[in-house]
Amino acid sequence: MSEDKSQNYFYYQVQPKAPVFKSFTYKSELKLNIGQRIKIPFGKRKINGFILKKDISSKIEEKKIKKIVEIDENSIPLSPKRLSWMKWLSDYYNYPLGSILDLSFLKENFKKKSIPLKSSLTSSFPEKALLKLNKEQEDCINKILKQTRFQTHLIHGITGSGKTEVYIHLIAHILKQKKQALVLLPEIFLTPQIVKRLEKSFLNQIALLHSQISFSQKKQAWKSLLSGQKNLLVGTRSALFCPLPRLGLIIIDEEHDSSFKQEDKFRYHARDSAIVLAKELDIPIVLGSATPDFSSYKKALDSSYKLYELKKRAFKQSLPQVTVVDLKTKAKKSPYFWLSDLLLEKMTSALNKGKQVALFVNRRGQATALQCASCGHIQKCLNCDISLTLHQNEYLICHYCSFLEKKPLRCPSCNSDYWIERGFGTQKIEEGLKQIFPQYKILRVDRDSISSEEEMKNFIKQVEDQNVQIIIGTQMLSKGLNFPNIYLVGLILADMDFHLPDFRAEERSFQTLLQMAGRAGRTDFGEVILQTFNPEHSSIIFAKKHDYKNFFLTGINSRKAWAYPPFSRLCLLRIDSLKEQEGKNFAKQTAELAKKLAIPFQKNKSIKYGIQVLGPSPAPLMKIKNRYRFQILIKGENYLILDQFLNKLFPKIPKKSFIQVKTDRDPFSMF
Ligand code: ADP
Ligand code: ZN
Ligand code: ZN
Repeated sequence: MSEDKSQNYFYYQVQPKAPVFKSFTYKSELKLNIGQRIKIPFGKRKINGFILKKDISSKIEEKKIKKIVEIDENSIPLSPKRLSWMKWLSDYYNYPLGSILDLSFLKENFKKKSIPLKSSLTSSFPEKALLKLNKEQEDCINKILKQTRFQTHLIHGITGSGKTEVYIHLIAHILKQKKQALVLLPEIFLTPQIVKRLEKSFLNQIALLHSQISFSQKKQAWKSLLSGQKNLLVGTRSALFCPLPRLGLIIIDEEHDSSFKQEDKFRYHARDSAIVLAKELDIPIVLGSATPDFSSYKKALDSSYKLYELKKRAFKQSLPQVTVVDLKTKAKKSPYFWLSDLLLEKMTSALNKGKQVALFVNRRGQATALQCASCGHIQKCLNCDISLTLHQNEYLICHYCSFLEKKPLRCPSCNSDYWIERGFGTQKIEEGLKQIFPQYKILRVDRDSISSEEEMKNFIKQVEDQNVQIIIGTQMLSKGLNFPNIYLVGLILADMDFHLPDFRAEERSFQTLLQMAGRAGRTDFGEVILQTFNPEHSSIIFAKKHDYKNFFLTGINSRKAWAYPPFSRLCLLRIDSLKEQEGKNFAKQTAELAKKLAIPFQKNKSIKYGIQVLGPSPAPLMKIKNRYRFQILIKGENYLILDQFLNKLFPKIPKKSFIQVKTDRDPFSMF
């Protein structure tokens, strides 16, 4: 086609699917839709792009404007609301918009194929007999349903208090109104029971999206949801990007779970992003947890979220008996310091009776803290109240501010010279138990041994068939599994995660403790042994009493004192480099630049500190895949100040080909 004079073109701002933050002008002979996927020439290649808006006033010379070469006829264009939500995500998480938009499209051919997108608005779904609700549940449902516009609701209910039942009633209501519902779960193959219940209640309406399904299953689920054949989507975090056309309700179960945060490439938090989407679409969103995230619970107490407490167990079950054992009394320097006499005795007796035993070890972090075996003392940073991390068995380093000291010979608090390094995990326990109980079959469950639905099913079968007597697992084992023959649950080192170099360490380990204790309570006569070096620690005391609220009220004070979230906002700059020295220099220069730019933010008298820049420091796992990692932590007094500051900083960070700078907004893990 000739490019001359009277040819009538339509001009569009197009976002290429490429690592760029700009959009570009393209033209087409056809009138296209905003939100549509297209193919464009970009550099030497042809790549996907997305139409952002009409371009009426481009200053680019006509001849230089390239033509759109192909149009995706297979998928529905994104709605303006979805588009503006994704622009927000791109700004907030500092990630290229094109790559985010791409998540809302299937990777398939652009040419129309035979499957028509017929719209078959809900043939009324089978009215299953729903359980009769108790007063707390009924109250919660009525209040939530009263609000048809945007509102964040938080259901705080102990395990077994009937949250799932509440979700089912809410979904049924939404489906009856011919709208669609989205349920996000942490990890589907770890939560088979809730999925089963949703499947039973919404037989023909449910579609699943998670990492364990094939592309053709994904495609089928996706199409049936877009056409309205199915109206309930249950999935993991990325299901958020399936552009449900009539979304009327979002539910996030286990909203505190760290798997909602994506930890590579596009580092978004699915819960936070879902709240922004709900706001954009003006629909309600329901968060549920037995152990809410501190930020969520605080917002609920501050009334920006509506709070519902389910305090009773819906079903007649007793909470398990929890016995706390102080590991400090264990004979020093025993190779099995992690096995108390009481746990050994209870294990022996349970196993003799043909019962199964489950032991939990929270091996989540790999950073090693140093703890005194006699008094439980932990070396912490003087600036940050964060446990120091052992490097080369010689130095202790703070991963927030890079404070450094030599490993002390003796404990400053009791003068003992017996330090233990915290950082051991399931494998070490397994080796020990094989020596102690050679006659029993032991199975280890962690991310190294189970990574697929298949392996999980196999594991469940082994336990159910009682082919194994001792199960050793990480908290992965605590998510929604129920084994009636497990009599005894042992938490090997309940305080293990308290000392991870992370301000959320205590919150997280408390959450895990409560989840595990909740697990054991599902059987009627379970027993829990909780081993710790810190029996007087608030997490232990409150976990023993299943008391979330008082744990929160205690913990939130120290967050406030140290100005950690939710009393501030964080952004972690992750710098990684092929060469150690260059990475180090770059990190140092960037930190200096940031500190200089922070000065004007600190001068205002009406604010406390405005912006604080901590670091640079080596990342806790400094060398990964032969790249060296450094980090700079930026703390903003609030969201707006941090936004303003980052907008000043980002354009000034120099681009180097051998160094990557990645932004982690609201970081969840410092590793
Ligand atoms: P959660 O999701 O909070 O762990 P569930 O919704 O799974 O709680 O409820 C726990 C158990 O109690 C389930 O077996 C469920 O069927 C049952 N249950 C829930 N609500 C009721 C109710 N109103 N009456 C009787 N049983 C209930
Ligand atoms: Zn000591
Ligand atoms: Zn520090």
